[in-house]
Parts: sequence; C-alpha cells; structure tokens
Amino acid sequence: MPIRTAQRVAQVKPSATIAMSMKAAELKAAGRDIISLSMGEPDFNTPDHIQQAAIDAIREGKTRYTAVDGTPGLKDAIIEKFKRDNKLEYRRDQILVSSGAKQSLYNLMQAMIDPGDEVLIPAPYWVSYPDMVRLAGGAPVTLQTTLDASFKISPAQLRTAITEQTRLLILNSPGNPTGRAYHREELAALGEVLDQFPRVVVVSDDIYEHIWWADEPFSTLAEVCPGLADRVVVVNGVSKAYAMTGWRIGYAAGDPELIKQMRKVQGQSTSNPCSISQAAAEIALSDSQFCVTEMCKAFHKRHDWLIPALNELPGVKCSPGEGAFYVFADCSGAIESLGLDDDHAFCEHLLEHAGVALVPGSAFGTPGHARFSFACGIETLKQAVQRIDDALK
Ligand code: PMP
Ligand code: GLU
Repeated sequence: MPIRTAQRVAQVKPSATIAMSMKAAELKAAGRDIISLSMGEPDFNTPDHIQQAAIDAIREGKTRYTAVDGTPGLKDAIIEKFKRDNKLEYRRDQILVSSGAKQSLYNLMQAMIDPGDEVLIPAPYWVSYPDMVRLAGGAPVTLQTTLDASFKISPAQLRTAITEQTRLLILNSPGNPTGRAYHREELAALGEVLDQFPRVVVVSDDIYEHIWWADEPFSTLAEVCPGLADRVVVVNGVSKAYAMTGWRIGYAAGDPELIKQMRKVQGQSTSNPCSISQAAAEIALSDSQFCVTEMCKAFHKRHDWLIPALNELPGVKCSPGEGAFYVFADCSGAIESLGLDDDHAFCEHLLEHAGVALVPGSAFGTPGHARFSFACGIETLKQAVQRIDDALK
C-alpha cells in the first residue's frame, strides 16, 4: 500500500532551479555535451582568506554546537555590515543566523503565517517564495510585472493588492530572476503606500546587494523609509557575494519578538548553522571586501556582453539589469516560430538540440520567458549563445 504523505507537501513543487541544474548534471554525467546556464551560483571559488578562516576554526576546535541564532562574533560582524553598507542599526537580539538565507525566509514564513493569510509576491519571483508560503498554510498572491515595466511593481498595483488578509510583502532587489532593482525614489513611493497599512510586514531579500552595477548606490527599504524599519525584515547572506553557496550561511534582521519566534522554529528543526561556516562568514563580512568588487566586475562584464547577444537571437527580447547574475528574456517570439507549446517545451528543445540548460519562465510565475544565469565564464556564455542561435535558425 502506498504511504500517505501530507496534503501540505503534496501541493508544493520541487525547486525548478535545482531540478533543472540536476537534470543538466545528470545528462553531463551520462556523456552529453551540456552547458548549464540554469544554476544561480557564482562560478568562483570561495576566496582564500575565507577558506583559511574555516581551516583555522577546525584547528581551534570551533566544531561544537553554537547558540541556535549564531555566534556572538558573527552576529557582531553582521551588525557592523548593516551599519557600514546600509546605515541600519541592530542589536544582537534582532539577528538570526541560519543555514542559508533560504532557511531564514522559511523560518519567517513559519513564524508569521496562519492559514488564510496572504503574502504578496511580485512576479517574476524566486521559485521558492510561493512554496514556502504554502508550506506555512498561507496563500501566495502574485503581482504580475512586465518587461516594459522593468519587472517592478507600481505603488498603485501594491495598493490594489492589499486586502484584510495581507500579512507580508516580499521585495527582492536586485531580483532573481530579472536582475532589476528598485531605485530609491521607487522604494520611497512603495513606502508611502505601506505607511497606510501598519499590519503589513515586508521582507527585503537583499541577497544580491553586492552584485550591483547601477550608477546610484544600492538602497534597501528600511534605510529609505526609516518609519517602516520596525516592520521590515532584512534577509541577506554570504552565498552570492562571497561565492559561498555551499557553506550555507544566511541571516535575518528585524523586530526582536519576531526574530525570537523565528529562532524558536530553527531551534526545533536544525539548531545552529554549521559552526565552521559561521567562523568563515565572520571573516568574509569583516575582512577586506576587495574579492566582492572583483567578482562583481566579472559579472558586470558578462552581463554587458550577454544582453546585446541575446537580443540578436531571433524571437528573444531582454533589457539590461542593475545587478544579480541573471537575464530574464522574453522568448515568446522564438517559442512561436518553433511551433512549441510553451516555455517548458522551449527549454526542453534547447536542452535537446543546443545542449544548453535554462530555467523556464513559468517556474518564476511568468510564462513565455526563460532565465539565463551568467554565473559562468564568458567563453562558455559565447558558446551557449552560438548553440542557441544555431538551434533557433
Ligand atoms: N533569495 C534569493 C532571491 C535567491 O536567489 C537565493 C538563492 N538560492 C536565496 C534567497 C537563498 O540563498 P542561500 O540560501 O544560498 O543563502
Ligand atoms: N537561488 C539559486 C537559483 O535561483 C540557487 C538555487 C535555489 O536555491 O533556488 O538558481
């Protein structure tokens, strides 16, 4: 007899970004020549001084359980980072360190959402947000944006979407999968709407903060709208900026009572994040930031090459972003000329005929598109685009 599994889990999909990356890896292992532009993780190695901090931590015996919410040393490095980069002031009881920003977000949903609560998620969104909301029993509510609107929500759109049930709004800037970011005045305008709804909490997912090349500096909602800071939870981590995806360190900062509830969820599930990774993350955040600048320069160069190259492809349209390492391209013309049903069929077609793995736009709530990750060398990108061009012609 089949084992019955929970309804809660049955309604959740596996992460499409991870599924596509695994599929590309399996095909490669089976001998196929595959270029994967599917995974959102830097292709660089973790910088040497951060590696060394982890080796030192092992030698110094930092191999035991730590406080559930992170070591005092790492928390202080995070507090300093917020002061230095975002002009935000936090105390230790306002910080929760988790096994990746993903876990911080998961803890938050578990701590805040009751059945029937609505969470506003601008689309295209990172694949995991809606499913985290569903796992907490809540209802994800999508705010659809378009390429013409630079994939950003307007204040009017936000105002219309808020109901009696709205508990949370998720902002992710620069965003996965679009690379688009909210300017200061755009955040201020959204803040004016939020001022009218004191019960709505905002998650600001700033994980791509340092992969940034816009003319103006990066801004985050809590900094632009100090009046809202008490109900903004800032989520960030070391995965993307320091090429530390496998180390699994992310963090959340916000209202101490909410952080306490999130800590309880973590304390009853995974406890502290890896002690060795915490020691390495402390050095990553507090030592020289030169490595971040260097990696960002490389991402910027690839972005500037990729945008015009994709726009040359028949039936593909995209526009420049401000950061992150993704392009979210409208492929509806190409899908139609190939006589395919949708973006899933399009990505399958490119995997089969070009040997290039992309993630279909539907996974991010926006069909007719595909996400290209440029977290790979420029030569690889050139080869991938050439192969796609051949497959489209
Ligand atoms: N937020 C966004 C928008 C992401 O793309 C990712 C990437 N996985 C995360 C959060 C989580 O990152 P991590 O768990 O590796 O810190
Ligand atoms: N955030 C990355 C991506 O979108 C890593 C995979 C994941 O956790 O979704 O590809």
